[in-house]
Amino acid sequence: MRLFLAMLSHETNTFSNVPTDRAQFEARDLRYGGEIVETYRGTGTCLGGMIAAAERLGAALVPSVAAAASPAGRVTRDIYEHVKQRMLAELSAAGRVDGVLLDLHGAMVPEGVDDGEGDVIAAVRKVVGPSVPIAVTLDFHGNLGRDMVSQADLLHGYKTYPHVDMAERGREAAERVADVASGAIHPTVAFRQPRLLPPIASQRTAEGPMRRIYDLADEMEKDPKVVSVSIFAGFPYADIPDAGLGVYVATDDDQALAERLAGRLARVAWEHRHEFVHSAPGVKDAVARALAAEGRPIVLADMADNTGGGAAGDGTEILRELVRVGVRSAVVACLWDAAAVQRCTQAGIGARITLPVGGKVDDRHGAPLEVTGTVRTLSDGRFVHRGPMMTGLPGRLGPTAVLDVDDIKVILISHRWQTLDPEMIRFVGIDPLMEKILVVKSTIHYRAAFEPIAREIIEVDAPGLSSSNLARFDFRRIRRPIFPLDPDTAYEPE
Ligand SMILES: [Zn+2]
Repeated sequence: MRLFLAMLSHETNTFSNVPTDRAQFEARDLRYGGEIVETYRGTGTCLGGMIAAAERLGAALVPSVAAAASPAGRVTRDIYEHVKQRMLAELSAAGRVDGVLLDLHGAMVPEGVDDGEGDVIAAVRKVVGPSVPIAVTLDFHGNLGRDMVSQADLLHGYKTYPHVDMAERGREAAERVADVASGAIHPTVAFRQPRLLPPIASQRTAEGPMRRIYDLADEMEKDPKVVSVSIFAGFPYADIPDAGLGVYVATDDDQALAERLAGRLARVAWEHRHEFVHSAPGVKDAVARALAAEGRPIVLADMADNTGGGAAGDGTEILRELVRVGVRSAVVACLWDAAAVQRCTQAGIGARITLPVGGKVDDRHGAPLEVTGTVRTLSDGRFVHRGPMMTGLPGRLGPTAVLDVDDIKVILISHRWQTLDPEMIRFVGIDPLMEKILVVKSTIHYRAAFEPIAREIIEVDAPGLSSSNLARFDFRRIRRPIFPLDPDTAYEPE
């Protein structure tokens, strides 16, 4: 059996003014051919799971292209077309394949295209024709669209947030695509898009409404007629008509069952809609609470400045308050400011400098903050994920500096990367267990690796492009009415 393999992954925050161009992909991942298998084999990623399953099934992989960039603004046309055309050309040249495995996101918005994944899958379908099965892994934050559903045989959305089941979903996609290719199953699928736009802060799957919906989905999956169920919590910061929660059910040759289960899940999600409304204390209140808390480390989650949700990653409001109050034994992980890293590098380790940090990308993450500090360490920004997410995958933060501002250690990075792993603090020589306060720029993902070490977690409502307060965004193109933006939205029965 021969399986074609490709990845194109981006979560697009259409409110961001940082274009996702070729350089952003090169900073994260842009690789071709056999190198993909070498890099991803054994990692906690979808590709890692697909590779493991293919090897176990004795299937030959035809790896084409793997492209990913940190979430930011729209994917520029040239890099999008480059990756897509290369994938299509190699698929055409590959000869007979028995199945196609695509690792996509679900919330990618290229310039001029609302539904990037639907566009990619439709183009792949055109090359392989109707009889070659296509299975796609999608992020939990995918905004499900009609083309994705109709052009792929199977979609496999992550079932966890933090996303700790990526490898499992990759394995599942590879095994099921082989089942379809061999004629063992005949997928019939249904989807629903209730008028729900949950902020990401209330989407965690350990508890709350998503847990309850997934408990029901898990029950449904016990039926041997059910191939898979995916509940996409959606990505509200992509201002497109499909943004929001999506339900997808695949059954084995039973369309009526798929429709019935999808309708029931959409209804249950709707019934829990009020639990998706999220609030957190403001910056001053949160910092005061952290200082009053017992033990260490206390994590302050800077939820709205999460680069993993397309925020700038250079927000200054929590740092400003730490400096104002004179906090000691604190870490800010991590602040995206390549210019500040350069200043630190020029000054050298041990130098004392005054410079503005952060607040440079736009006016939605606080103003630049002038600080005086000592350059504590400099590094090339290379580390390896050790937490439950992306385990074993190398990370690259680019040139990295630690600026010590009266015992507030600010980790300055050159490549945007969400702080989801304490390794991003350890690798610059700081022991996170010894610090009183860890400011972590992440909405939910940090929980997988920081919850086990944090004495307490305090969520903070600071400004930023991944804020849970959706009323702060000037939406133009999402469906209206939609809950919670329009509290009186009525349910549309199927
Ligand atoms: Zn996600």
